[in-house]
Amino acid sequence: RRERALADVSGPGRTADGHAVALLANIGGVEDAELAGAADVEGVGLFRTEFVFLSAQHAPTVEEQTEIYRRVLAPFGSRRVVVRTLDAGADKPLAFADLGAEENPALGRRGLRLSQARPELLDAQLQALAAAAHETGADVRVMAPMVATAEEARWFAERVRASGLERAGVMIEVPAAALRAEQVLAEVDFGSLGTNDLAQYTMAADRMEGELSELLDPWQPAVLDVIAAAAAGARAAGKPLGVCGESAGDPLLALVLVGLGVSSLSMAAGKARGVRLALRTHTLEHCERLAAAARAAASPETARAAVREAADPEL
Ligand code: PEP
Ligand code: MG
Repeated sequence: RRERALADVSGPGRTADGHAVALLANIGGVEDAELAGAADVEGVGLFRTEFVFLSAQHAPTVEEQTEIYRRVLAPFGSRRVVVRTLDAGADKPLAFADLGAEENPALGRRGLRLSQARPELLDAQLQALAAAAHETGADVRVMAPMVATAEEARWFAERVRASGLERAGVMIEVPAAALRAEQVLAEVDFGSLGTNDLAQYTMAADRMEGELSELLDPWQPAVLDVIAAAAAGARAAGKPLGVCGESAGDPLLALVLVGLGVSSLSMAAGKARGVRLALRTHTLEHCERLAAAARAAASPETARAAVREAADPEL
């Protein structure tokens, strides 16, 4: 089985027993889209739209945005492209979406909270995305960053549907949303775990603070517990839940995430091959055992070691 998997490490993500796990790319603009579009991925799981506008002094017009989105979507043909609406604030400030200084920007009016304060920015973005989707025929799915409650998810989904776009989702990157994933995801079509912020907020450790990298490790038992709670909520709601944080690109952790029940993994395009190979050499049941082993561990180090020990030795 392993030889077969190695000989053909291309195409859609699936486990050794054929359970589908879409392998997707994280992108930040036109250049990334062109590279990822040529890569062996099933589409985009996270387009960080705020990256396009980091140096913009004025809000981009609907026309300007439509042109950029058209160029981002074009390389993917009919493949899915999950577009995150502006995640401005905290580590990604935008000059045209600045609500003034805050004591704690990471806990402030960022992401969807900023869209609620400036709904005209969100509506212009949705209008441009709908126009670009229509022109290119791309399978565009929009999701909101920094959602904490079911009510916020409902507010976002209503605005997305009013724009003519069909699918609305939310990022699950705030522990409150993860713990209440069933109710939050009931309002939308899909969820995507942002493990970078989920680790930051679960561990109360600033992701910009290099000295805290041990606390920010996605293998932290508490982070795995919060992910498991979100996956259980998604299952109860009958909604797909993917991962788009950096952790999805770690082959061992990807197996654990699949074992916890996530249905897609989005990462830097260059990491897809390693994750695809890991999946092809493990059954879903094996992934579930790896997830149980990780969650039984008391520290990130022992979780990693337990999974390495119980995974295919050649991984
Ligand atoms: C995350 O928080 O994990 C995520 C994918 O989004 P970003 O890193 O852009 O905040
Ligand atoms: Mg985030």
